[in-house]
Amino acid sequence: MSKLALLGGEKVINHKFSPYNFMGNEEIEAVNAVMRSGVLSGFVGSWSDNFYGGEYVRQFEQDWCDYFDVEHAVSVNSNTSGLICALGAIGIEPGDEVIVTTWSMCASATSILVWNAIPVFCDIETDTFNLDPDKIEALITPQTKAILVPDIFGHAADLDAIMTIAKKHSIYVIEDCAQAPGAIYKNKKVGTIADIGVFSLNYHKHIHAGEGGVCVTNNHELCERMQLIRNHAEAVVEGKGVKNLSNMIGFNFRLTELQAAIGVEQLKKLGKAIEYRLRCAEQLSDGLRELTGIRLPVVKPDCTHVYYTFPLIMNVDQLGIPRELIVDALKAEGVSDIAAGYVNIHSYPMYQKKIAYGSAGFPWNSEFYKGNVNYDMGTCPVAEQLHQDSFVNILLCLSLFSENDIALIVKSFKKVWSALPELYEKKNSYSFA
Ligand SMILES: *Cc1c(COP(=O)(O)O)cnc(C)c1O
Repeated sequence: MSKLALLGGEKVINHKFSPYNFMGNEEIEAVNAVMRSGVLSGFVGSWSDNFYGGEYVRQFEQDWCDYFDVEHAVSVNSNTSGLICALGAIGIEPGDEVIVTTWSMCASATSILVWNAIPVFCDIETDTFNLDPDKIEALITPQTKAILVPDIFGHAADLDAIMTIAKKHSIYVIEDCAQAPGAIYKNKKVGTIADIGVFSLNYHKHIHAGEGGVCVTNNHELCERMQLIRNHAEAVVEGKGVKNLSNMIGFNFRLTELQAAIGVEQLKKLGKAIEYRLRCAEQLSDGLRELTGIRLPVVKPDCTHVYYTFPLIMNVDQLGIPRELIVDALKAEGVSDIAAGYVNIHSYPMYQKKIAYGSAGFPWNSEFYKGNVNYDMGTCPVAEQLHQDSFVNILLCLSLFSENDIALIVKSFKKVWSALPELYEKKNSYSFA
């Protein structure tokens, strides 16, 4: 076998992967039609016919309802905004606690802080890397208002178990489906099982409009409250005759007609985007299955995976080599879209120092907060260990991989694996960048 690129040999991959791109003439035509109309946003921030947005926004929301088989869809300008709408809609109070996983994009937790409420981080399962239902109840307190559950990397969390716990304690469940649009959990699409599901239309997601998001719900009141929070609620409560004033605080989370027009066309391609991810994942699985010390992604019974990324665990004890050295060797071969570890949100300085609003510890030290949340390292041992030692993510979200690209990624893995003894020699002298 040829010499590893990390040790001065030739790289397996000598080209850059193409950027992820699922745009076509359909989107270009749709955008041009909006441009020709001159109406780039149909929203008005006062109580009138246009409070709910323009023609394309409404069309997009209807299409989203049809595709996901839900009663209501509320488009917003990002998933982050959508989570803020969802939390406001359920009537979150300052000092309430929301249970959330430490393995997500930071906005899953920050959206809670935005309402002066407190994120409580729960550990994850080793199979799907989602919120571990067995560890939720120990975190429930009289302050717990909701569980915010992402479907991470494209596989559903254990939603039945989570919904059962939520019902027992009369708390809400909000699903963050940014990474799993179209994923199935027991015959249902993710996002439609919880009280509210929130999707992203950010560039790196399966389908996108540059930026954007969508909240879905079958609850009419929650829908109305999200529509209000999206569009300067405080200015319209009188006109609309809103009785419940809690969290009727004004934001501008509106989607433009341009983005909605792109979204209409992109939604039609979601199936294709998922098929493409499945093809990549199958090719990777077939290629990597024979390698020792790698655990391939797990797909649970009655679930589908939509592979936002391709998450792996490396058995570092069996391999005898630090994960970083293996990942650096793969990167040196040209496997650019790969990352060692994911994230532990609770380790961020904001949580470790409890400094968010201002500099004096608000909202944790507010008189409204009756709890005493602990963000110490060690509170999410499974997530921490996976992040530090053994988790590796192939970032399918970053590029548009041809079959040849994936074949070369597999070839790079095989090359590195066949040179493990040489890496083993290096492991004590190698200094990590
Ligand atoms: C991308 C992402 C978000 C944020 O989405 P935006 O639309 O960029 O605000 C939130 N949660 C998860 C799990 C994500 O992957």
